Amino acid sequence: MNMRDFTTDHDWLSINTATIRRQQGHEVPLTRIIDQCAAHGVRAISPWRDQVAAAGLGAVARQLRALGMGLSGYCRGGFFPAVDPAGLQAALDDNRRAIDEAKALDAPCLVLVTGSLPGALNGAPAHKSLERVRAQVHDGIAASLEYARQVGMPLAIEPLHPMQAADRACINTLEQALDLCDALDPQRSGALGVALDVYHVWWDPKLRQQIARAGAERLLACHVCDWLTPTRDLLSDRGMMGDGVVELRKIRSWVEDAGFRGFSEVEIFSQSDWWQRSGDEVLATCIARHRTCV
Ligand code: ZN
Repeated sequence: MNMRDFTTDHDWLSINTATIRRQQGHEVPLTRIIDQCAAHGVRAISPWRDQVAAAGLGAVARQLRALGMGLSGYCRGGFFPAVDPAGLQAALDDNRRAIDEAKALDAPCLVLVTGSLPGALNGAPAHKSLERVRAQVHDGIAASLEYARQVGMPLAIEPLHPMQAADRACINTLEQALDLCDALDPQRSGALGVALDVYHVWWDPKLRQQIARAGAERLLACHVCDWLTPTRDLLSDRGMMGDGVVELRKIRSWVEDAGFRGFSEVEIFSQSDWWQRSGDEVLATCIARHRTCV
């Protein structure tokens, strides 16, 4: 299959709003970020729930409509594991709200970061059983999927790099995510799939094979950035496309061979570099690198 040509325009570039949530070291409101993206001719974004909540869901939906801007995804649901039934239920309730918000913003999918050992994010894991949290993630997605199907909001499981297995996601490879999809949506209905983020999966020896296995029905989102050597912070030292070692164009060729034709979403958390620059510089660089490197 022919790969789409990204070298002459940025029609298929989406900006994950975390990429410019901090500009010159300061937090920037989502409404301003959306205007900046529009000014750079960006057709789609993927906003975060906290940014949407701060700006107001209705106001964001109206602003997007007025600008003719779409979403490439909504960040994020998940974090299913908990220590007790009340905690598990609270997570399901929160995911239901996330699904409703995604629907109100007309997102193509809600991205799920599954969560892992309860308390680990705060440095106090309640236990060490990955088996238990993986079972809770299975059950949590199954329960959320029922509601997501009713309202027509696809769920996209995002496997995270294994360095985040303890605190953010106990689903760490595309294969693991697709096994969950097969278990919960064997009919490949389109209601459940994956968000493929090159930062998390670029190293995987089974990447090509698992992308082919996913196919268009399961590939719901694609996130791009780069892997820097050395990476100085596990969470917030992502590289601009072209500055690291990820074979971005090769991976995109696999994804497109599998039938994906959606947005390529730039998602860069960069505390000490890109978040210190102006939003306009970051957007202009994203656009230029998207043409030359993605
Ligand atoms: Zn991502």
